[in-house]
Amino acid sequence: MYEAVIGLEVHLHLKTRTKAFCGCEAEYFGEEPNTHTCPVCLGLPGALPVPNRQAVEYGLRLALALGSRVPERLVFHRKNYFYPDLPKNYQISQYDLPLGQGGALPLGERSVRIKRLHLEEDAGKSLHLEGRTLLDLNRAGSPLIELVTEPDLRTPEEARLFLQHIQALVQTLGISDASPEEGKLRADVNVSVRRPGEALGTKVEIKNLNSFKSVQRALEYEIRRQTEILRRGERVKQATLGFEEGSGKTYPMRTKEEEADYRYFPEPDLPPVPIPRSWLEEVRQSLPELPWEKAGRYQALGIRAKDAEALAYTPAMARFLDRALEVGLASPQALANWLLADVAGLLNERGLSLEESGLTPEGLSRLVALFERGEITSRVAKGLLPEVLEGKDPEALVQERGLRMVADEGALKGVVEEVLKAMPEAAESVRQGKLKALDALVGQVMRRTRGQAQPDLVRRLLLEALGVG
Ligand code: ADP
Ligand code: MG
Ligand code: ZN
Repeated sequence: MYEAVIGLEVHLHLKTRTKAFCGCEAEYFGEEPNTHTCPVCLGLPGALPVPNRQAVEYGLRLALALGSRVPERLVFHRKNYFYPDLPKNYQISQYDLPLGQGGALPLGERSVRIKRLHLEEDAGKSLHLEGRTLLDLNRAGSPLIELVTEPDLRTPEEARLFLQHIQALVQTLGISDASPEEGKLRADVNVSVRRPGEALGTKVEIKNLNSFKSVQRALEYEIRRQTEILRRGERVKQATLGFEEGSGKTYPMRTKEEEADYRYFPEPDLPPVPIPRSWLEEVRQSLPELPWEKAGRYQALGIRAKDAEALAYTPAMARFLDRALEVGLASPQALANWLLADVAGLLNERGLSLEESGLTPEGLSRLVALFERGEITSRVAKGLLPEVLEGKDPEALVQERGLRMVADEGALKGVVEEVLKAMPEAAESVRQGKLKALDALVGQVMRRTRGQAQPDLVRRLLLEALGVG
């Protein structure tokens, strides 16, 4: 038996108004290449960087949310390497005094320790065409957080879940969109394999994975590969790998620079930035309710643990649920069920986000409440959801179409008789004790009452009429 050991390095784009060390606007997604540049981010001689206070504050939010230690002053270092889309030939980053050290992210029952998180600038983008390469420096100098975990993760699914939780956290904190499809969340994964209880094995690093799915697939492939090597009694070689989406395989990349190759030294153009404790306190006070706190609150309201997590870690759903809870008409668990199943399913079918749909917390609450009060059946409620999603008023729809639940024995007895006549075979089966056939009869009564008959009552009336039960 072997087990995997996984540690992640996550790069998150901060959604500051301007770049990390200059005044260029930092939102360049989809813009003309090289239109968001200036002498600082182009690395022109004599241009001097100025740290972006908002970027530092966003980093502090994350550090405090994770419970990381924050130093008394922020020190930037130069990480030297040549790359065509890195015009200065060095990256302003942090080295021995990162913005945050230690801390942890809760992951279900477990918790993943954070090694460090630091602030740095991104490089530009190289666009490789046939026979030539184009450079776009819009991204050069935009602010990033790099977050490094301890090797606490054990499975590809857990690694994926960790990334989803980090994504939800930074979105809740309002510091990053963390959208992998826009390159705003990228991950390098480190993985080794060992027998449980043994010392850590030799790790490989898989670089630049830009979707949750590729993180999971790359890890699955790599764990299989390393396990086979160990089974043969051979050793895993330390390596830096890439991942090819098409084949689902990892492949060797450049041999990685050692830390000494980067010639880290303190950035002479940026004096250390003091981080007064009063500033930290202010940031701490301004933190919103964190996803794991939300999950705890939902559970305390009676929502099942699994549902509470799912909602708390989907920020748009959590915002919606919080407003529906304020409306106070429907029970928390019923709202959770509807949001996670019916609403999510319908949105998915229509390719809409919750915000894009016309669904309001009031609208959903009133629909669910009609069902919970026994005024409409679950079937009618589900049938009305598409229109409520478009912003229509559930009570008005029920009124207009006469959709109230029918729990009137007299009215239903007639329908029951009709159905028993129309379906003699099913009726006979039930008489002989094959209760499975009862569902078909109930279904037919529901159809003939447009889903409005109270299902329990229908069931009882059918059994009585058949002399069973
Ligand atoms: P390096 O100096 O090679 O970059 P670090 O100690 O900085 O290594 O760790 C980088 C990442 O690799 C971290 O996320 C860490 O948790 C992970 N890691 C370290 N050792 C192992 C190992 N043996 N197996 C899997 N992951 C590891
Ligand atoms: Mg490293
Ligand atoms: Zn600039």
